[in-house]
Amino acid sequence: MSMTPLTSDELKALAVGLNKLAHNIWWTWDQEAQEIFQELSPRGWQNLYHNAVAVLHEVSDYELRVRLQDQDFARRVEKVLKSFDAYLNDQNTWTHQHAPALLKNPVAYFSAEFGFHETLPIAAGGLGILAGDHAKSASDVGLGFAGISLFYREGYFQQAINQDNWQTEYYTLLNPKNLPIEPVLDAKGEPLVCSVDITMTQVYFQAWRVNVGRNPVYLLDTNRPENPQHFRDLTLRVYGGDSTTRIMQEILLGIGGVRLLRALGVKPSVFHMNEGHAAFLTLELMREMIDEGKSAGEALALTKQQCIFTTHTPVEAGHDRFNAELMDYALHKFCTQIKLPFEDLLGLGRVHPKDAKEPFCMTVLALKASRAANGVSELHGSVSRHMWQSLYPKLPVDQVPIGHITNGIHLMGWMKGPVRRFWRKKLMAKVNEQAGASSGDTTRFLIANPEAHWDKAINAPDFWKQMTDPAFISDEEIWALRYKLRRELIEFARRRLLMQVQRHMEADFIAFEHLLNPDALTIGFARRFATYKRAPLIFQQLENVVKLARDQARPIQFIFAGKAHPRDDDGKRYIQHIIHLSKYSDMQGHLVFIENYDVHVARQMVSGCDVWLNNPRRPLEASGTSGMKAGCHGCLNLSILDGWWREGYDGTNGFAIGEDAHADTVEEQDRVDSANLYKALTEQVIPTFFDRDAQGIPRKWIHMIRRAMATLVPQFSTRRMVKEYTEKYYLTK
Ligand SMILES: *Cc1c(COP(=O)(O)O)cnc(C)c1O
Repeated sequence: MSMTPLTSDELKALAVGLNKLAHNIWWTWDQEAQEIFQELSPRGWQNLYHNAVAVLHEVSDYELRVRLQDQDFARRVEKVLKSFDAYLNDQNTWTHQHAPALLKNPVAYFSAEFGFHETLPIAAGGLGILAGDHAKSASDVGLGFAGISLFYREGYFQQAINQDNWQTEYYTLLNPKNLPIEPVLDAKGEPLVCSVDITMTQVYFQAWRVNVGRNPVYLLDTNRPENPQHFRDLTLRVYGGDSTTRIMQEILLGIGGVRLLRALGVKPSVFHMNEGHAAFLTLELMREMIDEGKSAGEALALTKQQCIFTTHTPVEAGHDRFNAELMDYALHKFCTQIKLPFEDLLGLGRVHPKDAKEPFCMTVLALKASRAANGVSELHGSVSRHMWQSLYPKLPVDQVPIGHITNGIHLMGWMKGPVRRFWRKKLMAKVNEQAGASSGDTTRFLIANPEAHWDKAINAPDFWKQMTDPAFISDEEIWALRYKLRRELIEFARRRLLMQVQRHMEADFIAFEHLLNPDALTIGFARRFATYKRAPLIFQQLENVVKLARDQARPIQFIFAGKAHPRDDDGKRYIQHIIHLSKYSDMQGHLVFIENYDVHVARQMVSGCDVWLNNPRRPLEASGTSGMKAGCHGCLNLSILDGWWREGYDGTNGFAIGEDAHADTVEEQDRVDSANLYKALTEQVIPTFFDRDAQGIPRKWIHMIRRAMATLVPQFSTRRMVKEYTEKYYLTK
């Protein structure tokens, strides 16, 4: 092997390549890429919360050049850059074969939030995470895709628990220079500036581009010197402020988003509204057509042909409603531009257009102005048809035009590092062993495309089918992986808990090095603390649960995390209750609450827990996605048969709480579900987990893990989901 030092041109190319790589979040789902940034500055990597752009800023140009003189390191960088390049330039994607029309004319996907990675905290919860995963998978399958959202320069709030165990919120300013975003520039190299009219004011905005693999996601930002301060702050926070801020943000998102795409010369083949927040985009499309001389009716019909809409929740508060005064105030100038009588405009957002008392509803507008609409699971589709039947008085409920596509997750993005490496090793071992005498499609594919495309192969259903074959992977290997992941989570929790209590100087109430038990059945619950998700449900039977937790032979323990909406005091009381139990009840040492839930905390938890608990008030959990993230790590679901789990559960691949039905009243539901939860835990979960053979292996438990992976992982992925959207909605009119 040649040991000649790299030329300065070669060094420069690698440095430029690394910078480009850091500005494309593709690196977040490539293990080797991640490790390069980590190795450049291990301490910086940790302190800067896994931020590749910031790590590169830590390292001087000189240091980078010197480090790249390490030939082994340089070769690894080169290899990563090559596979990045191959990914970007792949001309043989699923879209090339199945949807070539969507290569040039992209899907314009509007979402008020996008969750990509812990360094860009501009998502409030599942809706944003789903949008991020949708974007990542759209790139993976080669789909033309342009995302639209807002650049919230203070992001979503950070959670700190005070001495009364009460959630407090604080905000940190995001610095664009240290984020994987780039300013969108015009021909002169200046920020491209567009404008929308809000109230009577022309509000200017610029945009930031997040490179998501092959595709851009544009984040609109009103923090421009031309604007008065209150409009500069319009994009300060995710869902910040009251309904006035809300409607203004939505005008920017919908109307501004269309204007940005026009300014960029992007010609979408379809506009996809991820939730009603984006529905004002339909008004802008109508305005354009009315401007060209179409009648209002024609404009609506033509708009309808271009739009599709996904509704995400049956919870009332999830559907924005604005009264006529607010509409008039916020859209005053726009109304003069659209040349549509104000009453007619209001009618577009009403079930009964002439009912002056009915507020304007974004969901109604989205439904009226879309050629297709869907819920996010089978049950949610059906619930939504009932919910919106009044919009279609002539149709029986089962013919209300709202279908469903069940949500998924971006598998590569959610897999924890050691797990990515684990599966890759398994996959490649299989390829080597079978080379020449191959059977499955995955193997054949991999032999033709060695190493480089293992990320595609791992998404193939026939890869996961092998999970049920002990020759492919032994019980011992699975159990060893489970122990490793559980220990990593417990050590993560110990570090976090120590940091949490040091703030209050109450570090003496527990011995942190012994907090949580690496041998105990570890049950996780983490999501937004919306009350319908009933975080403390299990503790309705506190005395019994304490006994279970303190059982020396078969101990169980709980790890909780989650944020309550800043104005949701009931949710905050749930948090307070759980933390209180963790500190002052007999649950102490067997129950912890990790502060500041985010994508990073989520990844630790879904990988390290043995059981993922989900007990929403059915049918309010439209889909849920955190349980899907558990799958590829060998964590089993214990869940109400709501949302995705109603479709995923088959009796052998995890645990159900109760039946495929629910009681009529909230009180009855809570009572029945809590009893069923305790029953499932004591009659199924605990006995199976602790049923060990002579080697100490829980064979039945591991069999369930095998079944869970084989049946759930390929099905509940955004790769499957994006293909379904493409075939069902993006391509067909
Ligand atoms: C996956 C995820 C969610 C969504 O979880 P649900 O179970 O669908 O409520 C919310 N927040 C974060 C940070 C996540 O990673």
